[in-house]
Amino acid sequence: MIKHILTSILCIATVISFSQEKIKVVSSASIFQDMAKNIGGDKITSMSIVPIGRDPHTYTPKPSDVELVSSADLILINGLTFEGWITELIENSGTKAKIILITEGVEPIISQKYRNASDPHAWMDAINGVKYVYNISAGLASIDPDNALFYADNGVKYNAEIKNAHNYIKNQIATIPIEQRILITSHDAFQYYGRAYDITLNAIMGISTESEAQSKDVQRVINIIKEKKVPAVFIESTINPKMLQQIANDTGVKIGGELYADSLGDEDSEASTYLKLLTHNTDVIVNALAGTSIKSTKIDGDNTSNNLWIYFGLGAVMLLSLLFLVVKINN
Ligand SMILES: [Zn+2]
Repeated sequence: MIKHILTSILCIATVISFSQEKIKVVSSASIFQDMAKNIGGDKITSMSIVPIGRDPHTYTPKPSDVELVSSADLILINGLTFEGWITELIENSGTKAKIILITEGVEPIISQKYRNASDPHAWMDAINGVKYVYNISAGLASIDPDNALFYADNGVKYNAEIKNAHNYIKNQIATIPIEQRILITSHDAFQYYGRAYDITLNAIMGISTESEAQSKDVQRVINIIKEKKVPAVFIESTINPKMLQQIANDTGVKIGGELYADSLGDEDSEASTYLKLLTHNTDVIVNALAGTSIKSTKIDGDNTSNNLWIYFGLGAVMLLSLLFLVVKINN
């Protein structure tokens, strides 16, 4: 009898949990989708419009994206000219979803190249990431007040991890000698990173990938590589590496590795989450910019000591030959 009652209770509980609709959160890009997943947990389904590995600057929405946006409860957008196509997509979808600008409260960097254009890549500074998390958890609480505490609690825990990542990046970048802290990438996605972690940036393309690189931009980057003796340049996961590879060939510098700026990597990649993206990028940068110099100095040092031994050996042979000659003449 008790067994029957327990089974019935279990069945009812299962039906209730399945019938409870999850909040449908649609983000413009995969980085924000991951942030929302960390805050919303099992209370939400978190989806991204731009698939992993695709470039959000130049994305063209598909008919299925109209459906996705139309069925959303909450839409998360970065703004600051990141996903210019989204306003039209939202209008066309007729969605009733609440729209949250997740960069609210972030101090934007204004582009030096394009007048009145803000740099969208604010998430590359982990402390801005903390602001994103506050905005997302407040957005979730506003449409699902019953679970407001749950979202706030998850946000606080997640932000503690993001702050740890921030300290890690700061300490790691500080190990690169100041004159070697020059980061050369395909597009200008690391200005917030540079401002927060004290590294100078240079890119072939601007803050958006919409306009193609000019030959004067390529020349500017080549000049910097030669003048500052930059040891490595970095390709990006969402951008064709051809031009940067050409620059690397022409100048003889190496490709320091692949960085993730506008998209997460695949599930089995080193940058499958926002937190991993931050620390992976940092490890790649530090390995290429600090590592090379330490290695080459070490090799140079070894060569010097090897040379000393060769001179010593040659001197000894000459001295012995001279002694042999003197003894022979005397005889
Ligand atoms: Zn970008």
